[in-house]
Amino acid sequence: MTEATQQKIRLVCAHCNTINQFPVTRLDDMPICASCKQPLFNQKPIETDANGLIRHIDNSGVPVLVDFWAPWCGPCQNFAPVFNQFATAVGNQMRLLKVNTETHQQAAMDFNIRSIPTLALFRDGREVARMSGALPLPQLQQWVVEQLTQGN
Ligand SMILES: [Zn+2]
Repeated sequence: MTEATQQKIRLVCAHCNTINQFPVTRLDDMPICASCKQPLFNQKPIETDANGLIRHIDNSGVPVLVDFWAPWCGPCQNFAPVFNQFATAVGNQMRLLKVNTETHQQAAMDFNIRSIPTLALFRDGREVARMSGALPLPQLQQWVVEQLTQGN
Protein backbone atom coordinates (compact mmCIF):
# COMPACT_ATOMS: atom_id res chain seq x y z
CA MET A 1 0.00 0.00 0.00
CA THR A 2 1.31 3.42 -0.87
CA GLU A 3 1.29 6.39 1.41
CA ALA A 4 -1.32 8.12 -0.72
CA THR A 5 -3.88 5.37 -0.28
CA GLN A 6 -3.38 5.37 3.47
CA GLN A 7 -3.97 9.07 3.86
CA LYS A 8 -7.30 9.59 5.57
CA ILE A 9 -9.59 12.55 5.67
CA ARG A 10 -12.46 13.42 7.94
CA LEU A 11 -15.89 14.75 7.00
CA VAL A 12 -18.95 15.53 9.07
CA CYS A 13 -22.23 14.00 7.88
CA ALA A 14 -24.81 16.69 7.12
CA HIS A 15 -27.63 14.35 8.15
CA CYS A 16 -26.53 12.88 11.50
CA ASN A 17 -23.41 14.93 12.41
CA THR A 18 -21.24 11.80 12.64
CA ILE A 19 -17.57 12.42 11.94
CA ASN A 20 -16.58 10.05 9.16
CA GLN A 21 -13.02 9.08 8.36
CA PHE A 22 -12.03 7.46 5.09
CA PRO A 23 -9.10 7.26 2.65
CA VAL A 24 -8.68 10.42 0.61
CA THR A 25 -8.69 8.25 -2.52
CA ARG A 26 -12.37 7.48 -1.87
CA LEU A 27 -13.38 11.13 -2.01
CA ASP A 28 -14.48 10.81 -5.61
CA ASP A 29 -16.53 7.61 -5.17
CA MET A 30 -19.64 9.20 -3.67
CA PRO A 31 -18.70 8.42 -0.05
CA ILE A 32 -21.56 7.64 2.29
CA CYS A 33 -21.88 8.14 6.04
CA ALA A 34 -20.77 5.10 8.07
CA SER A 35 -23.55 5.78 10.57
CA CYS A 36 -26.70 6.79 8.65
CA LYS A 37 -25.64 5.67 5.14
CA GLN A 38 -26.62 8.99 3.57
CA PRO A 39 -24.29 10.54 0.98
CA LEU A 40 -21.63 12.78 2.52
CA PHE A 41 -22.01 15.17 -0.40
CA ASN A 42 -25.26 16.13 -2.05
CA GLN A 43 -24.14 19.10 -4.16
CA LYS A 44 -26.00 21.53 -1.94
CA PRO A 45 -24.93 23.89 0.83
CA ILE A 46 -25.52 22.50 4.32
CA GLU A 47 -27.55 24.58 6.76
CA THR A 48 -25.88 24.49 10.13
CA ASP A 49 -25.77 26.15 13.57
CA ALA A 50 -23.02 27.38 15.91
CA ASN A 51 -22.00 23.91 17.10
CA GLY A 52 -22.30 22.31 13.68
CA LEU A 53 -20.20 25.04 12.15
CA ILE A 54 -17.29 24.42 14.50
CA ARG A 55 -17.66 20.66 14.08
CA HIS A 56 -17.43 20.96 10.30
CA ILE A 57 -14.51 23.40 10.38
CA ASP A 58 -12.54 21.16 12.75
CA ASN A 59 -13.29 17.93 10.87
CA SER A 60 -13.25 18.63 7.15
CA GLY A 61 -10.65 17.09 4.90
CA VAL A 62 -11.71 19.55 2.20
CA PRO A 63 -11.84 23.37 2.40
CA VAL A 64 -14.98 24.80 3.99
CA LEU A 65 -16.76 27.89 2.66
CA VAL A 66 -19.38 29.45 4.93
CA ASP A 67 -22.13 31.85 3.90
CA PHE A 68 -23.28 33.90 6.91
CA TRP A 69 -26.69 35.29 5.93
CA ALA A 70 -30.09 36.36 7.24
CA PRO A 71 -33.61 36.08 5.83
CA TRP A 72 -34.23 39.86 5.92
CA CYS A 73 -31.09 40.67 3.89
CA GLY A 74 -31.84 41.33 0.20
CA PRO A 75 -28.28 40.80 -1.06
CA CYS A 76 -28.20 37.51 0.87
CA GLN A 77 -31.36 36.34 -0.90
CA ASN A 78 -29.88 37.26 -4.25
CA PHE A 79 -26.67 35.45 -3.44
CA ALA A 80 -28.37 32.19 -2.39
CA PRO A 81 -28.78 30.79 -5.94
CA VAL A 82 -25.14 31.65 -6.72
CA PHE A 83 -24.00 29.76 -3.64
CA ASN A 84 -26.17 26.79 -4.66
CA GLN A 85 -24.62 26.78 -8.12
CA PHE A 86 -21.16 26.93 -6.62
CA ALA A 87 -21.97 23.92 -4.43
CA THR A 88 -22.87 21.94 -7.53
CA ALA A 89 -19.76 23.14 -9.35
CA VAL A 90 -17.29 22.19 -6.62
CA GLY A 91 -18.85 18.77 -5.96
CA ASN A 92 -16.76 16.82 -3.46
CA GLN A 93 -13.84 19.24 -3.46
CA MET A 94 -15.26 21.61 -0.86
CA ARG A 95 -17.75 21.76 1.98
CA LEU A 96 -20.28 24.61 1.61
CA LEU A 97 -22.16 25.69 4.72
CA LYS A 98 -24.88 28.24 5.37
CA VAL A 99 -25.45 29.87 8.74
CA ASN A 100 -28.61 31.86 9.35
CA THR A 101 -27.26 34.57 11.65
CA GLU A 102 -30.74 35.50 12.84
CA THR A 103 -31.59 32.08 14.24
CA HIS A 104 -27.97 31.25 15.13
CA GLN A 105 -26.70 34.48 16.64
CA GLN A 106 -24.08 32.63 18.67
CA ALA A 107 -22.39 31.53 15.45
CA ALA A 108 -22.27 35.14 14.23
CA MET A 109 -20.75 36.21 17.54
CA ASP A 110 -18.25 33.33 17.62
CA PHE A 111 -16.96 34.37 14.22
CA ASN A 112 -17.30 38.11 14.74
CA ILE A 113 -19.60 38.62 11.76
CA ARG A 114 -20.20 42.37 11.37
CA SER A 115 -22.10 42.52 8.10
CA ILE A 116 -23.97 40.09 5.89
CA PRO A 117 -23.58 38.39 3.65
CA THR A 118 -20.09 37.45 4.78
CA LEU A 119 -18.19 34.57 3.20
CA ALA A 120 -15.52 32.86 5.26
CA LEU A 121 -13.13 30.25 3.93
CA PHE A 122 -11.50 27.66 6.18
CA ARG A 123 -8.86 25.03 5.61
CA ASP A 124 -7.37 22.53 8.05
CA GLY A 125 -9.41 24.01 10.88
CA ARG A 126 -8.45 27.64 10.46
CA GLU A 127 -9.80 30.64 8.62
CA VAL A 128 -7.78 31.56 5.53
CA ALA A 129 -9.94 34.32 4.05
CA ARG A 130 -13.08 36.35 4.56
CA MET A 131 -15.11 38.64 2.37
CA SER A 132 -18.18 40.79 2.93
CA GLY A 133 -20.77 41.17 0.22
CA ALA A 134 -22.19 38.99 -2.52
CA LEU A 135 -20.39 38.08 -5.73
CA PRO A 136 -21.48 36.71 -9.10
CA LEU A 137 -20.51 33.08 -9.65
CA PRO A 138 -17.38 33.62 -11.81
CA GLN A 139 -15.94 36.12 -9.32
CA LEU A 140 -16.78 33.81 -6.42
CA GLN A 141 -14.95 30.93 -8.10
CA GLN A 142 -11.98 33.16 -8.83
CA TRP A 143 -11.84 34.47 -5.27
CA VAL A 144 -11.89 30.96 -3.78
CA VAL A 145 -9.22 29.67 -6.15
CA GLU A 146 -6.99 32.64 -5.39
CA GLN A 147 -7.34 32.21 -1.65
CA LEU A 148 -6.63 28.48 -1.79
CA THR A 149 -3.56 28.86 -3.98
CA GLN A 150 -1.91 31.69 -2.07
CA GLY A 151 0.31 29.37 -0.07
CA ASN A 152 -1.94 29.28 2.97
ZN1 LIG B 1 -24.77 10.34 8.76
